[in-house]
Amino acid sequence: MNRLLLIALLLLIAVFTTACSEDKSSAGLAENEMVPASGYAPVSGVPVSGNHIYSRPAACDFRHSKTKVRYVDAKLHKVMGKCNSSSNRYAGWAERPEKPAVIIKWLKSYCKRKYKSTATIIDVDERQCHSGSGAYNVAAVGYVNKYKDVLRAFKSRRDTELSKSAWGKEHYCKTGRKKGRTYPGLSAKTCGSSSPCRNCTGSSEGGGTPTSGGYQFLNKHNAYALSGRTVRWKAKTIQVSGAKGAWRTAVNRWQAGIGIKFKYVKKKPAKGKGIQIVGYANIGKDFCGKASGWWWDDGEIGECKVRVNSKHDNMPCGTVARTITHEVGHCIGVFKHIKGPGLMDKTGSINTITTPVRNMLKLLYSLPPGTNIKSKLKGSSTALQRTKESKYDPDGRQRIYFEFGILKGGITKVIRSD
Ligand SMILES: [Zn+2]
Repeated sequence: MNRLLLIALLLLIAVFTTACSEDKSSAGLAENEMVPASGYAPVSGVPVSGNHIYSRPAACDFRHSKTKVRYVDAKLHKVMGKCNSSSNRYAGWAERPEKPAVIIKWLKSYCKRKYKSTATIIDVDERQCHSGSGAYNVAAVGYVNKYKDVLRAFKSRRDTELSKSAWGKEHYCKTGRKKGRTYPGLSAKTCGSSSPCRNCTGSSEGGGTPTSGGYQFLNKHNAYALSGRTVRWKAKTIQVSGAKGAWRTAVNRWQAGIGIKFKYVKKKPAKGKGIQIVGYANIGKDFCGKASGWWWDDGEIGECKVRVNSKHDNMPCGTVARTITHEVGHCIGVFKHIKGPGLMDKTGSINTITTPVRNMLKLLYSLPPGTNIKSKLKGSSTALQRTKESKYDPDGRQRIYFEFGILKGGITKVIRSD
């Protein structure tokens, strides 16, 4: 858990009072500016979805003390902040026609008057309170709010983990635009090409001969770790122990379109054979999940263990299944996070295995472990090709260790030893 969440828990003890009515007189602002002043407080103490999945402050998920609407779901314009007094009161205004600068003034003035304190701005118009995927788009939020049916669809959406901006952007690009719907700031450019992962680095390929972009992507997320040589499980059938039911389903998501299969076994797989889902474990309070293991310096993966924080269900980490899918992604060869949004970005910001990642793994498993891909790289300079293969050894049985963890804010730890 991070500090904000702890503050949130502490706040449970403190009773939150709303700012509006009692403040109208003392605020010294014109009355119309203050209506409705809103108070945000954690209702359950644990946000529905927090910064372990999204790199956004836990406070984004606080609900308004009266309306019970989550701050992230409220309409623009909006500002959320905290008075830096000992009681750590959260306050904010949402669904205001005024510009954010005006609302920020209200917040500062409120904290000064009420608690004789300064204010810390947590969010202004979803700049912080977004999905964490970089998909923040103020226009997308405006778009959702503009059309009644779209707003209704948003409220009844199944994937409640998407923020309004991320959801709105997706909706606009998938259906809104085709229906001729508009909003200032949204255009074809917003949606980019028809690629499902336009923010990802490297290009996606639709099968056939892999493009240099495919190799580029593979190098960036896998082969870089072994001096330009591929790292994978030796066999395309990878054993998995410790997964049943929903966990098995979570692992199986990697089978489609990659050319690998999982074989479920009762005992921990032998070295070089497969993945051990250890399950719940004490992995440090800041991690949702971890994948750790090693590969031999000939490019074959020897071991990979997946562990889930034993407090996972009480942490803002999303579902355990999602954490497992993400970590298994590391175990089968995604050694560096993609640029989001996607399940394999640093925070697993959306629950989608994006096409470039699938294509990369498809390419990876079509080549023997330890394949030198440097000559396939775009603009592969002689300098690059001459790079010392310091780590690679064709007969290598030396272990290279790795560890990945989803930490708050999605920091990944990669530990290696030679
Ligand atoms: Zn990761």
